Amino acid sequence: MHEVIIGLEVHCSLNTKTKLFCPCAIPEEGDEANTKTCNICVGFPGSKPALNKKAVAYALKLALALNCKITKELIFSRKSYFYPDVAKNYQTTQYEIPLGSKGNLNIGSKKIGITRIHIEEDPAALVHQGSLVLVDYNRSGKPLCEIVTEPEFTSPDEAREFLKRLITILHYLEIFDVNKGVIKADANISIKGYERAEIKNITGFKEIERALNYEIERQKVLIREHQGLKHRETRGWDAEKGITLFQRRKEEEQDYGYILDTDLVPIDLTKEMIDEAKHSLPELPQEKVVRYQKEYTLKIEDAEVLANDFILAKLFEHSLSKIEPGFAAEWIRREVSRVLNYKKKELEESFIEKHLLEVLELIQNKKITRQTGQRLMELLVQEDVPVKEYVHKNNLELISDDSFLEGVCKNVLASNAKAIEEYKRGEEKSYNFLVGQVMRASKGKADPQKVHEILKKLL
Ligand code: ZN
Ligand code: MN
Repeated sequence: MHEVIIGLEVHCSLNTKTKLFCPCAIPEEGDEANTKTCNICVGFPGSKPALNKKAVAYALKLALALNCKITKELIFSRKSYFYPDVAKNYQTTQYEIPLGSKGNLNIGSKKIGITRIHIEEDPAALVHQGSLVLVDYNRSGKPLCEIVTEPEFTSPDEAREFLKRLITILHYLEIFDVNKGVIKADANISIKGYERAEIKNITGFKEIERALNYEIERQKVLIREHQGLKHRETRGWDAEKGITLFQRRKEEEQDYGYILDTDLVPIDLTKEMIDEAKHSLPELPQEKVVRYQKEYTLKIEDAEVLANDFILAKLFEHSLSKIEPGFAAEWIRREVSRVLNYKKKELEESFIEKHLLEVLELIQNKKITRQTGQRLMELLVQEDVPVKEYVHKNNLELISDDSFLEGVCKNVLASNAKAIEEYKRGEEKSYNFLVGQVMRASKGKADPQKVHEILKKLL
């Protein structure tokens, strides 16, 4: 067995109103190129950067949420390189001392170490037009947070779970726009005993997993055919072809010739600032997991799934005003995922969030059966169904009328002599079969408890 080792460097955009070192507004999709720029973000000589305090506050929250140690002094450095995406020939970033270090994030029972978290500016975007490369400086100077993990993932699955949880935390902290924000990652991948490849600049959650899977297979083939990866290398990800491509022999971080940025004076991160950030933290997934178990006696697996999904947690907490917690957790965790998986849809694309509470209330108050509830959920994946009206119009209310149910039960028993015989010989399965037949005959609307009472009596 080849042992896989993966480390991630994740870049996420922070949703501040202005850029990191200048007063330019954050560009939006559809903005004309080079219209959200100023002397500072296109690096004109003599222009002086001024640090965006909001970006620092946001990064501080994230560092605390990921249990990092916070530096006392915030310093910035220049990462020197020549490429048209940085007009100054350097990217302003943090190198020597990052904002946060030595943190961690749990994925299930495994703790993934966070090496460092720092703030830096986004470079400009390069636009390829035939043989021409155009530069759009709108993106230049957007605030980014870079999160570097220890190489502790042993599979792309773990890396995906980590990213999912990281995005959930960013969502809870409200420092990242889940719909418009961008997640990019560089991934270090190696097979134990061989050198590693770094895949640069993979954009998006799903692409990161795809790229990792591809690269692992590639390295395994190398081991089978030759002797595995012998030199470190930097590779790119071609999302269209679904392959990684060799770019260059890997350079080391120190090759970038970092020097301290003399335009940005060091800033003290005082105890007051850190305490304030701590107090502003919302309840985070890990705390929710503990509270859900304690307060609502949820099983740990249910608590984990709910707390680590921003929308599911919101649905769950919202439903508690009217729904019994165990029942809400069970339906939100299992039924919602079941219907979404089955129809291959995302929760945001469905109408479940809008109507779930109504469906749960109807079941809880015995207005409809669970089966009817399940059918409603399936409909809500794609249709904006007005639940109560729909139930009424389609005659889906739970049937608890004794004489009617007794009639249905008698009919079922009359045509299932064999099952009755088996039941009397002690086969529980046959009893369940009979219940199933009654439910079917009532189109899933019979009150299950009544059905049991009547069947037991008749049998
Ligand atoms: Zn600017
Ligand atoms: Mn970076």
